[in-house]
Amino acid sequence: MDEFVIMGLVLQEIEYGESDRIIKILTAEKGLISAFAKNSMRLTSHLFAACGQLCYSEFVLRPGRNADDKMYTVVEAGYETDFRDIIYSFEAQGVAMYMVEYTLGLSLADQPAEKELKLLMNCLYMICKKKADPKIVKAVFELRMCCECGFLPQLLCCRDCGAYDGERFYLDMEDGHLLCEDCAAKAKVVCNLDKGALFAVRYICLAEDKKLFGFRISASSAGYLFAVAEQYALAHMDKPLNTLKFLRSLSSWDPDQKQTKD
Ligand SMILES: [Zn+2]
Repeated sequence: MDEFVIMGLVLQEIEYGESDRIIKILTAEKGLISAFAKNSMRLTSHLFAACGQLCYSEFVLRPGRNADDKMYTVVEAGYETDFRDIIYSFEAQGVAMYMVEYTLGLSLADQPAEKELKLLMNCLYMICKKKADPKIVKAVFELRMCCECGFLPQLLCCRDCGAYDGERFYLDMEDGHLLCEDCAAKAKVVCNLDKGALFAVRYICLAEDKKLFGFRISASSAGYLFAVAEQYALAHMDKPLNTLKFLRSLSSWDPDQKQTKD
């Protein structure tokens, strides 16, 4: 196979030897790929800037010698932009790294990942430009990424009676069905969404890409949204996420905040 040009977001850089790096790049066409970037740790290397974590760059890649060699070699790399303006708060950094780790945990190798890449870049952009609260970005990312991966919850109405509207609902974390307050009581499960949170979940899962962040939510409903989005995302991820531990260690990330905030 010949060299080819591809755009991609560097999700991970692993130092290798004195000055080399192995990078994991998320691309629209080929999903998640690994590439060896020789000498790219050297400041003088033309690969240095373009191969850093959270850089979106144009790569010229050479495939391995045989078909089952999944490691590409970076021949050239041109820096386009990056999403590294996250150091203004631990929370912003934590959410960005969590989204990256979550994406790395998805099975995105050797398959197109255009929607996943677009969503991740959109969410990172919102954090870098301080256009949304990192907690909101995290919830949007979690629910929307599950939808992109084929786990769209059944949000239209209560599974058992067809009720569309109500003060409280239950969203099942495993298969994504919805129950109204009465049907949840019959099923002996505790409601985990109020009206505002259900509106937001429906919005996030069904809105066009461009309008993904175009909803408003009260502080009390946001507490429900954050909890449900995280639980739903974790129910569809089979690996432990180290970045979540970091987020939970932050004082601004008190899970009981929802009871005291409004
Ligand atoms: Zn019902």
